[in-house]
Amino acid sequence: MALTITNLSKTYANGVQALKNVSLDIPTGMFGLLGPNGAGKSSLMRTIATLQDADTGSIMLDDLDVLQDKDAVRRVLGYLPQEFGVYPRVTAEELLDHLAVLKGIANKKERKEIVEALLQQTNLWNARKKNLGGYSGGMKQRFGIAQALLGNPKLIIVDEPTAGLDPAERNRFHNLLSEIGEHIIIILSTHIVSDVTDLCRNMAIISQGQVRLTGDPLSVMEQL
Ligand code: ADP
Ligand code: ADP
Repeated sequence: MALTITNLSKTYANGVQALKNVSLDIPTGMFGLLGPNGAGKSSLMRTIATLQDADTGSIMLDDLDVLQDKDAVRRVLGYLPQEFGVYPRVTAEELLDHLAVLKGIANKKERKEIVEALLQQTNLWNARKKNLGGYSGGMKQRFGIAQALLGNPKLIIVDEPTAGLDPAERNRFHNLLSEIGEHIIIILSTHIVSDVTDLCRNMAIISQGQVRLTGDPLSVMEQL
């Protein structure tokens, strides 16, 4: 599986050119998109996630045209946005069950099994009956991964996930991503170098809307 981005450009209505001819080949595994604030990371992530359009260029997930076949992409996509808000007065178990209904998993018993497996995988089983409002930052992020994993996605987009996490939570979150990232594409956007060098098989550096370097972390770091 591969995500192929070719000559993607985007200028916002206010004249800011957020993406300039971005081309990237993203294979299976964890891919790190590293860049400073304002580099264009979220613009690229939202475009891949079918939440906004580009002006020119293409994005292909194998033979699926991401910018055209949005419904098909959404069926195989998991997304953890930068500002991930949770409903404070529902429990993790309840919300995952509701989201599974929205994903089209109609059978109650099947949902129960899927939700239980996700809560176990993200280490939230013991907190499943707690309201999300009482979760720590790290627990919220892990819940964000659980919801992104609903429906067995082939591609997961994680936008600036570790901001505000303490080191222990960050480690736990990293381990979870590594586990998931063996068989699917995970794109991790971050401004933290070690998030990428610790976790990712491949990476790109983006600044001012342009890809500056791409490759495996070791070779990219050597070129800096
Ligand atoms: P588009 O060109 O995709 O239609 P717009 O420029 O119309 O995008 O902006 C979309 C939304 O983003 C608007 O609600 C706007 O207020 C908001 N927005 C504008 N500038 C910024 C910015 N610098 N960063 C984040 N959001 C912004
Ligand atoms: P990053 O995620 O790397 O911080 P962004 O993609 O959020 O970068 O932003 C890239 C540039 O585009 C910035 O200059 C930002 O202010 C601008 N921008 C982002 N979203 C919008 C928007 N909706 N409307 C106008 N400008 C935007």
